[in-house]
Amino acid sequence: MVGGSVPVFDEIILSTALMNQVISFDEVSGILVCQAGCVLEKLSQFVQERNFIMPLDLGAKGSCHIGGNVATNAGGLRFLRYGSLRGTVLGLEVVLADGTILNCLTSLRKDNTGYDLKQLFIGSEGTLGIITAVSILCPPQPKAVNVAFLGCPGFAEVLQTFTTCKGMLGEILSAFEFMDAECMQLVGQHLHLASPVQDSPFYILVETSGSNAGHDAEKLGSFLEQALSSGLVTDGTMATDHRKVQALWALRERITEALSHDGYVYKYDISLPVERFYDLVIDLRARLGLQAKHVVGYGHLAGYHVSNPHTRPVSRGWQPAPERDRGGLQRGAAGGPGALRVCLDGRAAGQR
Ligand SMILES: Cc1cc2nc3c(=O)[nH]c(=O)nc-3n(C[C@H](O)[C@H](O)[C@H](O)COP(=O)(O)OP(=O)(O)OC[C@H]3O[C@@H](n4cnc5c(N)ncnc54)[C@H](O)[C@@H]3O)c2cc1C
Repeated sequence: MVGGSVPVFDEIILSTALMNQVISFDEVSGILVCQAGCVLEKLSQFVQERNFIMPLDLGAKGSCHIGGNVATNAGGLRFLRYGSLRGTVLGLEVVLADGTILNCLTSLRKDNTGYDLKQLFIGSEGTLGIITAVSILCPPQPKAVNVAFLGCPGFAEVLQTFTTCKGMLGEILSAFEFMDAECMQLVGQHLHLASPVQDSPFYILVETSGSNAGHDAEKLGSFLEQALSSGLVTDGTMATDHRKVQALWALRERITEALSHDGYVYKYDISLPVERFYDLVIDLRARLGLQAKHVVGYGHLAGYHVSNPHTRPVSRGWQPAPERDRGGLQRGAAGGPGALRVCLDGRAAGQR
């Protein structure tokens, strides 16, 4: 989806699509052991039938494999609640370049026996070996899911809303996503999805997942009241019904698809201190000028200091970077496999 597997030189191409079997699932602990070619969405369905969920969910769920997810250390929409694959992957089986099978396929949540070798392969993008099986911890399926979609007057207010949200929703907060007005314009133009709130410079999607529908809705309601009365958000709507929840999520999940309809997309997933993230979008717009049809920013605000939002310039056609741009925005080995390093007052972090 982001060109991570596009062969450009002399790579070896393997398909793990036939390695698509669930090996075991423990309905007490929620530990799933499966082959690396299982499609994420199929695994989600499998565990949901047993009242669990996968700890990650991505726009690409219908086609991506769990082995690819682990190899890219994909974060996704549940990152805020369940953390990174570095925590939820319990074990891996990997085949090394010389054919050695490395069996670290433990299904123990606590395993203090020496080095944690599996961590080397999480995010290694196939450079150290082929992941052939994965053991992963699945959380219980939440009984109640509520979603609120809000309009926000500025990025500073997006951040303040996030702080308020964490304070008021605490343990039931499961997602906090933002998108800018250009994203909304593009999902409207290309996918005919309408905004459920009045036009705003930014939009926020807040999801809660808990065990008591009434209690969770009440908490979300109080948060909305507080956010609206303090002017942090200017408009909002809430959904508890599954169909409406899906419709609100579609506005966020289908941004990538809308961008693909709009032109050639240069995708950068960048981790930066949250308070500086949107400066990057503004700077890129100024720097690219008419070379880009759109520069959009959206993503999840995860954790306390860094975010993993997506900056997506869309151009009218492919162009090599002008010489003067190469120093500021460079892809390459210095940042590790597939890493992108962005110079922003020396405070940029590696991507993912
Ligand atoms: C560095 C990176 C980070 C990403 N982070 C996110 C994210 O946070 N959220 C999100 O929604 N999407 C993310 N993506 C998009 C990502 O492509 C998909 O989300 C998905 O996880 C990839 O799965 P896939 O099966 O399509 O893998 P592919 O696109 O086929 O492969 C992706 C990379 O993983 C390697 N790989 C695939 N399978 C294996 C295996 N079995 N063993 C070893 N290596 C393997 C490939 O060689 C390639 O380098 C990221 C992509 C990259 C490249």
